[in-house]
Amino acid sequence: MTDTAPLPSFAAVIVAAGKGLRTGGETPKQFRQWHGKMLLAHSIDAITSSGADPIAVVIPADGALPEGLESAYPKVTWVPGGETRQDSVRNGLEALVCASPVRVLIHDAARPHLPQDVIRRLLSALEQNVGAIPVLPVVDSLAVAGQDGLMQGKAERETLRRVQTPQAFRFAEILAAHRAWDGATEAGDDAQVFAAQGGQVALVDGDERLHKITFAEDFADAMAPAAFRIGQGFDVHRLQEGEELWLCGLQIAHDKGLAGHSDADVALHAITDAVLGAIGDGDIGSHFPPSDPQWSGARSAKFLEHAVKLAAEAGFAIGNIDLTLICEAPKIGPHRDAMRASVAEIMGVEIAQVSVKATTTEKLGFTGRGEGIAAQAIVGLTNV
Ligand code: MG
Repeated sequence: MTDTAPLPSFAAVIVAAGKGLRTGGETPKQFRQWHGKMLLAHSIDAITSSGADPIAVVIPADGALPEGLESAYPKVTWVPGGETRQDSVRNGLEALVCASPVRVLIHDAARPHLPQDVIRRLLSALEQNVGAIPVLPVVDSLAVAGQDGLMQGKAERETLRRVQTPQAFRFAEILAAHRAWDGATEAGDDAQVFAAQGGQVALVDGDERLHKITFAEDFADAMAPAAFRIGQGFDVHRLQEGEELWLCGLQIAHDKGLAGHSDADVALHAITDAVLGAIGDGDIGSHFPPSDPQWSGARSAKFLEHAVKLAAEAGFAIGNIDLTLICEAPKIGPHRDAMRASVAEIMGVEIAQVSVKATTTEKLGFTGRGEGIAAQAIVGLTNV
């Protein structure tokens, strides 16, 4: 098979029936978010785009599927898993019998990257072999561990390989091997099931990108490339006699103040919305409804502190804040550094991370007529 030749037809089984508890948390790892979408969705998308048809996805027998998953993949056959991994694979294979595929790839949901080159190498190897698996060399030296925690000896890494998935087989033969497997014995993978029935398994080059997501750190690492988020916020409040003027958490002496349900700190409201926008978590009104009496006259610093806490819970720290106040009066310049210090304190960052700018609208519009103050904010978040 050349690098550009069309791939022969093949079916696929994706095993997503595990409890995945080593990653921490209550949701099985295959249903957790990884780089912006569900870990399992990465595997299904990769297998689908390589042309696999039909596709069986083996899921936990005792749990509900995440909402929307089934409808997102109408062509997938959803199959309940078994007690062990090999039971689950067998269920997946049995579900494909009626389609009579010639070849099948058996893949783990926990390997979200699936380079097309690997699929090509596997299917190419199936032209001459009944089974083929992707492997990688062992680069570390190996020690044999004794029960006493002491090194008992060494192993020869030159003869050992790390085995990945997908594993490719002629369908009839791997189905027969699974049907013949002694259910009481645990198999590490399908190549072991196949080899136990005397099947020959070819080794093809795997790919480091097929890395299996196993531990909580893998999920933490997975967020790392998306290290930057950005959000923007905008707000306006009316200037009115008899009101206090609060901007950036400071009371400013002025002949009018801003009217609103809380202290009407238009600057902190814009920054709060920018933080919420960066983490995609609604807006200030959805977290602190004006209809809720507990926020009447509230200090807006509370809103911003809460937004920063939500960002931290989502794994993000504040990178920088760039605020623009739009008004004819009061003059912002004399208060600028105090405002920066105040915002920095509320958000738990350094003053250098906070910019406060001001502009007028040349006496045009409501800000120009002194009827209100507008504020725009942009906030950058990082996950480091
Ligand atoms: Mg507001």
